[in-house]
Amino acid sequence: MADRKIKTEVLVIGGGPAGITFCRTLKKLKPKTTITMLRPEKHSMVYCAIPYALEGLFDPSKVFKRNELVTDVGVDLIQRAASKVDLKAKSVVDDAGDVYTADILFLATGANNIVPPIPGSDAMNVYTVKTQRDMEALREKIDNGAKRAIVVGAGAIGIEQAQAYRSRGMDVCLIDMASRVLPAMADEDMTTPLHETIRQQGIKLILSSKVERIKKTDKQAEQVVLSNGETINLNPTRDFICFAVGMEPEVRLFQGQGLEMDQEGIVVDSRMRTNIPDVYAAGDCCGYISGIDKKPIGGKLATNAVPMAKTAACVVAGENMEYAGFFNGAATCVCNLRVASTGFTDETAQQRGIKTVLGRGETTTVFPMMPDPGSLQVKIVADADDSRIIGGQVINVLSAADKIDIITLAIQQRLTLQDLSKLSYSAQPWQSYMPARSAIVQACENALNSLES
Ligand SMILES: Cc1cc2nc3c(=O)[nH]c(=O)nc-3n(C[C@H](O)[C@H](O)[C@H](O)COP(=O)(O)OP(=O)(O)OC[C@H]3O[C@@H](n4cnc5c(N)ncnc54)[C@H](O)[C@@H]3O)c2cc1C
Repeated sequence: MADRKIKTEVLVIGGGPAGITFCRTLKKLKPKTTITMLRPEKHSMVYCAIPYALEGLFDPSKVFKRNELVTDVGVDLIQRAASKVDLKAKSVVDDAGDVYTADILFLATGANNIVPPIPGSDAMNVYTVKTQRDMEALREKIDNGAKRAIVVGAGAIGIEQAQAYRSRGMDVCLIDMASRVLPAMADEDMTTPLHETIRQQGIKLILSSKVERIKKTDKQAEQVVLSNGETINLNPTRDFICFAVGMEPEVRLFQGQGLEMDQEGIVVDSRMRTNIPDVYAAGDCCGYISGIDKKPIGGKLATNAVPMAKTAACVVAGENMEYAGFFNGAATCVCNLRVASTGFTDETAQQRGIKTVLGRGETTTVFPMMPDPGSLQVKIVADADDSRIIGGQVINVLSAADKIDIITLAIQQRLTLQDLSKLSYSAQPWQSYMPARSAIVQACENALNSLES
C-alpha cells in the first residue's frame, strides 16, 4: 500500500544511535508523544563491533540491534528511507510513496564512508565498512579464501580492520598518506612506537604514501599503485581493498531547503535546533563545536551522537538543556595495546592557536612484583596560559578507556594540572601501580615541573 497520509507529532529520520537515543529519551519524558521513525535497513547495527565480527570472534548477527529498542517504547518504526523532504512544511515522502506530516522533525541520517575519487576505486572488490551489506560481503570474501587485503587509512577503523584480516591469516597492507598511524587521535611521540607493534603482527605498514591508482581487470582491482612508486598486486577474483579514510555527513536529502550546513554537516545550536523552526538534528549528520574552545571541530563518534540526541529529546520535551560540545573521548586497540585519547592532541591544540604544556607519566599496569607487569603510558596536554587540562592520551595493555574517561571528566570540569595532580586514586596489586604513583598524577606533576622551569 502506498500514498498513505500519516500524521505524527515527531518524525525521526534515521535509526542509528542518535535516532534510537532520541526516541527512547523523548518517550521516557513524554510517553504520550507520537513518534514515527523512518529507517531503511532491517537492523540497526553496532558498527564498532564489525571489525571483530569480521575477525570471527562472534556470529555477525550479534552486531544487529533489536528493533524492540524503539518499538517496545511505542515508536512506530517504518523500514523505509525518506526520499523527499520539505523541511519548512515538515512533510516527508518515503521510498514507497507514503507521505508523513509532523510537528517536529528530527534529522539523524548519520554519515557515509568516503571513497576518494581515485581511478579504479569503483572496482567491485573495493569496499568500505559500515552497512550490513559491507559486513556480509567482506565476511564472504574472507570465508571464500581471500589471501590479501589492502586497507587504506590507518585511523582506528583501518587499524582494527587490518588486525581482523591478519588474524584470519591474510596478507595485509595498511596504507596511509600521513607519516604515522592514528594522526587524529594521538601525537607523534605516542604513535610512532605503535608502528613496530603493528609490523610485528605481520601487517605491512606503508606510511607517507597515497593510493594513486587502482588497476582493474573485469571490473575487479588487481593492482594498487602508490605515490612512492610501489605497486601491490591482488588476485582480482579473491582479494580485496577496503577504504577507511573518513566519513562525510549524509545530508543529500536536505540540500536546497535553506538548511544551514558546513563541511561537517547540519549546523545545530547547543539545543540541537537547526536554523529551521521545529527541525532538530544530531549525530554524524551534524557539525558541532569543541567543548574546549567552542570552535567547530569534527567528531563523528557514537559517544557524541548519543548526548546530542539526549539533549534534543530533552529540549523537545520542554526541558532546559544544552550540549557543551565534543570532547572526542575515543579508544581503539593496536594489537595487544589499548590506545585512547581525549580532547586536543598537542598538534591540534597548536593548530588552534593554544600554547601547550605537556606531561608524561609511566607506570606498570600492576604492581611490578606481580606476574607479567605491562606498561601504562599517559600523556597530558594542558593550556600553558592557565594550566587547564585540554587533552590526554593513554596507551595500556589493559583498558585505556577507563583512564581516558578520568581525563575527559577533568577537561569537562575545566580542571587544571594542579587539580588533577591531586586525584585521589585506588591501588591494588592486580589492578594498578603501587600506592606511591598514578601515571595520570605523574603526568600532571611532570607538566607542572615544565611550567615552573
Ligand atoms: C566500523 C565503524 C566502527 C566505529 N567504531 C566506533 C567506536 O568504537 N566508538 C564510537 O564512539 N564510534 C564508532 N563509530 C562511529 C559511530 O558508529 C557513529 O558515530 C554513530 O553510528 C553515529 O550515529 P548516528 O545515529 O548519528 O548515525 P548512523 O549510525 O550512521 O545512523 C544513521 C541512520 O540514518 C539512516 N538514514 C540515512 N539516510 C536515510 C534516509 N534518507 N531515510 C531514512 N533513514 C536514513 C541510516 O540508514 C541509519 O539508520 C564507528 C563507525 C564505524 C563505521
